[in-house]
Amino acid sequence: MIYPIVLYGDPVLKQKARDIEQGEIDVKQLAEDMFDTMHAANGIGLAAPQIGKSIRMFVVDGSPIEEEGMQDFKKVFINAEILEEYDDDWGFEEGCLSIPEVRETVHRPEALLIRYYDEDWTLQEEEYEGMKARIIQHEYDHIDGILFTDHLSTLKKKLLKGKLSSISKGRVQPGYKVRIPN
Ligand code: ZN
Repeated sequence: MIYPIVLYGDPVLKQKARDIEQGEIDVKQLAEDMFDTMHAANGIGLAAPQIGKSIRMFVVDGSPIEEEGMQDFKKVFINAEILEEYDDDWGFEEGCLSIPEVRETVHRPEALLIRYYDEDWTLQEEEYEGMKARIIQHEYDHIDGILFTDHLSTLKKKLLKGKLSSISKGRVQPGYKVRIPN
């Protein structure tokens, strides 16, 4: 099932999402739907709040990125907790399926340690760096109600205000199904 993607301006994107209890929902089915939704929109990451669900789950699939190690970076993160972030900050131009047509450079630490449950409810603890860490940080922000635009300077935010306002009114045609905020 392909869900419409919630656009900037919807309050669900600003909420801190809650943990999922084991057995509460079919996480494998939801993961499949989230992958389908993400792939239909040519995304490399999608968090549950972006389909209107305020729960701590996100999926990533780095295979469209032509970089070593990204081909098999396809994962489901449930109730994730970033335990540590380290190494120098680096800038990278990010985009977001909920904020179509906006790309801005965001600075984030290069590496992290994360603990999460996979789709089999097996607890994992892993280290990531570079692009993988970047994608995880962006999606992890979503389950904490943070958008990449929140990381920008006051000036950048001011410059983007008009564009963000038109997105929140649905004046955007990203080529995938969207849910326009009320
Ligand atoms: Zn995003």
